[in-house]
Amino acid sequence: TPLIGVLALQGDVREHLIALAAADAVARPVRRPEELAEVDALVIPGGESTTISKLAALFGLMEPLRERIGAGMPVYGTCAGLIMLADKILDPRSGQETLGGIDMIVRRNAFGRQNESFEAAVEVAGIEDGPVEGVFIRAPWVESVGARAEVIAEHDGHIVGVRQGNALATSFHPELTGDHRLHALFVDMVRAAG
Ligand code: GLN
Repeated sequence: TPLIGVLALQGDVREHLIALAAADAVARPVRRPEELAEVDALVIPGGESTTISKLAALFGLMEPLRERIGAGMPVYGTCAGLIMLADKILDPRSGQETLGGIDMIVRRNAFGRQNESFEAAVEVAGIEDGPVEGVFIRAPWVESVGARAEVIAEHDGHIVGVRQGNALATSFHPELTGDHRLHALFVDMVRAAG
């Protein structure tokens, strides 16, 4: 059974721990480099990407995270986590850094103020039995992807799901629905990498 960490600096950590357990993984929070070293894979939750970036720097996690991701550790980022996995942000706040790992450019809060939160059915490549319920909360979209990244989901003509090798990212939050198919897909990726 794979051991999957959830980066527990800020954001909806608990919901991911529950979804991963439902998808037959053993899941635990990760806050320190020593804890990161123990897990087979990592989820980066939704929350606020500037805060996650600053706390990761404070906790000495930026370089260890970049090393593990660069070495092929499976990683799944939702919303703010997707932003953390982008090689480039169009509109970073001052002091905001990403880990990178996916050749994509993201726009933060892209879905706009009057529509800050909404739900929509989203077809995801690799997920069978119908669309997933996408919960979008001040969500980013992916402005463009490079040749190595595969678009796996779109909403309203905008890219909201990307996979590159062992890295997976969605603009929306499957951990906030009862539907664990995306977590199951990630657990399958972790098993295949193991
Ligand atoms: N807008 C947030 C950010 O820029 C992301 C929101 C979320 O994770 N739900 O980090």
